[in-house]
Amino acid sequence: MTSKTLRKTIGYSLMVFLIFLIISGLSYYIITIIQKKNNLMDIGEYSPKSTLVVNENKVYKSKFPFIDVHSHHWDMPIQDLSKLVSEMDSLNMAYLINLSGSGLATFFGKQDLMEKNLTSSIKNVKENFPKRFGVFFNINFNRIDDEDFKGNTTLLINDAVKQGAIGLKVYKNLGLNLRDSKGKRVPVDDERLSFIWEECAKLNIPVLIHSGEPKAFFDPIDKFNERWLHAREKPNSFRSSDQYPPFEKVMLEQYNMFRKHPKTMFINAHFGWYANDLKKLSKILDELKNVNVEFGAVINELGRQPRAAKNFFIKYQDRILFGKDIYKKDEYYIYFRVLETSDEYIQYYRKRHGLWRLYGMGLPDVVLKKIYHENALKMFPSIDRSLFN
Ligand SMILES: [Zn+2]
Repeated sequence: MTSKTLRKTIGYSLMVFLIFLIISGLSYYIITIIQKKNNLMDIGEYSPKSTLVVNENKVYKSKFPFIDVHSHHWDMPIQDLSKLVSEMDSLNMAYLINLSGSGLATFFGKQDLMEKNLTSSIKNVKENFPKRFGVFFNINFNRIDDEDFKGNTTLLINDAVKQGAIGLKVYKNLGLNLRDSKGKRVPVDDERLSFIWEECAKLNIPVLIHSGEPKAFFDPIDKFNERWLHAREKPNSFRSSDQYPPFEKVMLEQYNMFRKHPKTMFINAHFGWYANDLKKLSKILDELKNVNVEFGAVINELGRQPRAAKNFFIKYQDRILFGKDIYKKDEYYIYFRVLETSDEYIQYYRKRHGLWRLYGMGLPDVVLKKIYHENALKMFPSIDRSLFN
């Protein structure tokens, strides 16, 4: 190619690129005008300011001291707990349970690191605020088919409890992603894991288990899906039927596991993903007396049916624990307000969990005290009672 034709080619390419830029800019401009003219916008953008004027009783501190049984603090081995404690004090949170005692290493099956995390987390608590935190341990299920899995895991459970861990947390990978050495999905009620639940019963520690996901995450992502916005923001949360078992199947496996181990105390996280179907959850609690629930990340479900939820809380007042999941100080205010007040049309803090507003349940003091701390105190005898006087 001569230098002349090369120059020509470059000039031509530049011109094409320039025309492309002009057309794109123009199209963008025209689309914006059309959208504005027709009053079109993205559903995620829509944020109407309510004109409703009603009583507001914002709550920044719970009426009674509370125990959060569902929190995650991944950096607990090195965390400066004093900052966290001052926030807890401002909320009236007397005690916090870190369910991720073995740290992120759990998800990578790094056994050594898991043990180190647990030991350092417990050490940090013991050296700084022994009365304010409880730590759960986690188990590396990737080793399910190892010859010494049962023996080693039994030792690890006993060692964790001896060090001071107060419970076992089971993540949702069991029943969804976890596969055995043959590549087969491990169901929640897998026989190979039964000894774990029995060992926890023997040691008198609860097992907090999160199985599945909200039902809508298993449904088609279309205009009928209540969590459509969630699918757009966090597509990986969804569980398409070609890769995952149906929601009901995972739930049935979980109930089967509860049923097979009546001596084990279970805390079913997130109201067992049936906060949107309390009749169903009632049936489960009526049948399985060893099951308790906590309401982490489902206050949006409870607050949209305040009368049904209130009845449920009154009926099962001895089996409900306070849980929040993601630790974020300001978000607790909404939990307090839905539990304690009779406020109407409360704005929730996370759009992708639902675009609706919430209503207060106005629970009576006797019920509030139970869910804030009395029920948890029964389950965790090591917690200092003087924090609740
Ligand atoms: Zn959680």
